[in-house]
Amino acid sequence: MTEPRTQTFDSLDPRTGDVVDTYPIHSPEHVRAVVASAREQSDWWRDLGFDGRKQALTTWKGVITRRINQLAQIVHDETGKPHGDALLEASLGIDHLAYAAAHAKKVLGPRRVGAGLLMVNQAATLRYHPLGVVGVIGPWNYPVFTPMGSIAYALAAGNAVVFKPSEYTPGVGVWLARTFEEAVGRPVLQTVTGLGETGAALCTSGADKIAFTGSTNTGKKVMAACAQTLTPVVIEAGGKDAFLVDHDADLDAAADAAAWGAFANAGQTCVGVERVYVHKDVYQPFVDKLTAKAREITANDADDSKIGPITMPGQLPIIASHIEDALARGGRALVGGSGAVGERWVQPTVLVDVPEDSLAVTEETFGPTVTVARVESMDEAVDLANATRFGLAATVFSKARGMELADRIRSGMAAVNGIITFAGVPNLPFGGVGESGFGRIHGEDGLREFSYAKSIARKRFDPPLNLTSFGRTAAQEGMFTQLMTLLHGRAGTIPKAKRRR
Ligand code: NDP
Repeated sequence: MTEPRTQTFDSLDPRTGDVVDTYPIHSPEHVRAVVASAREQSDWWRDLGFDGRKQALTTWKGVITRRINQLAQIVHDETGKPHGDALLEASLGIDHLAYAAAHAKKVLGPRRVGAGLLMVNQAATLRYHPLGVVGVIGPWNYPVFTPMGSIAYALAAGNAVVFKPSEYTPGVGVWLARTFEEAVGRPVLQTVTGLGETGAALCTSGADKIAFTGSTNTGKKVMAACAQTLTPVVIEAGGKDAFLVDHDADLDAAADAAAWGAFANAGQTCVGVERVYVHKDVYQPFVDKLTAKAREITANDADDSKIGPITMPGQLPIIASHIEDALARGGRALVGGSGAVGERWVQPTVLVDVPEDSLAVTEETFGPTVTVARVESMDEAVDLANATRFGLAATVFSKARGMELADRIRSGMAAVNGIITFAGVPNLPFGGVGESGFGRIHGEDGLREFSYAKSIARKRFDPPLNLTSFGRTAAQEGMFTQLMTLLHGRAGTIPKAKRRR
């Protein structure tokens, strides 16, 4: 849909400040009109059925894959991240699209479920219907991978989608919608561009669900706006992810993973590593290895730079304030530090001896900085990891206790002896707890998130006891009570609580 271009905004290359392209600021009226047109598309899309949609999404997937370099170039231009990182991100997005298209029928299609003894005369059927139109609001840090986690799953579930990309990465959103229409022939995926107000307009535009990925603060505004119309939301918000190193961990692998988790994408990763807790027995060798890795990385505009600039200029003073606060409160910078924050680039920073209540430990920094703390035991590490209002993801490096420690951390996701590996497994749901949000994208849960359960019970034969009738007798009630006692009346025992190690 087009409207007169009353106002526009520029998408900028964060390495240089050059204008990459100019986009319209879509008004609330335009957003409402796009959602209304998406509703028309949604009928056609729903009626294609699982097999038709799978075919259409597979065609789109082919177009994206064949033009992946074009997409990666836009991501590179708009975020400043290295081209190789953009390729990796786009590839993960494609893999999720493939999973969603291939699995929707099995996960959401009709199936018989057991009716239970009390309802033995019923045939119980469960299926998942599309919601209609899903509004997707995305961030700029992974402008393909992150929204694709909602877009692909919402489309595969049979919904039309209206996507509002971040004002820093509008070109990615426009490219996705254009290639979709080219591949499928209908604008079932549409993009609206603009600033925060355009996202706010999408929340109240009549969409049947909003899938939001972004900061916790904006997530709260989205929820408040959606509450007016009881529009359901998925909130994928910020994090303050911990990385635990046990005494028996492979320290080379752990240091390599911690460095990548903390510094890749210049630390602008929702599931990036922001806090490291290391067992006292291996603290010093681990710190030595991590600092050596950090010193190898320089953020600059060289073609072979491993990390790019800070995409959103407003984040620079926040990163600087976290470093300064840590240093002012007794922390030490082993790499980087006070001078690490430049006009566009932030150099890797490793902070130690930082009090646990300082900003660098409690707030999302979203820069290439990491705190490292020594712990007496892994129980203390788990307690410190959990002492946060966020709960997105975590990492554990341990040979003997990896699964146990990962399970005890209050987070939606965890990687054991690897870094961010869960994000690349399409079968695993992605999302957080606490102020990191709720709801899930990816996996079977991600498909169900964009649908509603439709339950049908069909009578197969007359019940022996017809209890939902005014013709019910006292004798039948007595028989029913006896049946319930038989089924559920047995005395139980309460298990003793297990002691934690
Ligand atoms: P923001 O919260 O600033 O913005 C996210 C999106 O919301 C953007 O498209 C933005 O538009 C839009 N928006 C802004 N204001 C409103 C509003 N009032 N109503 C509706 N939409 C609005 O986040 P960032 O883009 O800065 O992304 C970084 C954050 O995202 C970090 O906190 C990071 O942890 C989190 N994140 C979480 C992920 C997860 O899966 N849990 C994954 C990736 C990032 P505009 O840009 O035009 O202002």
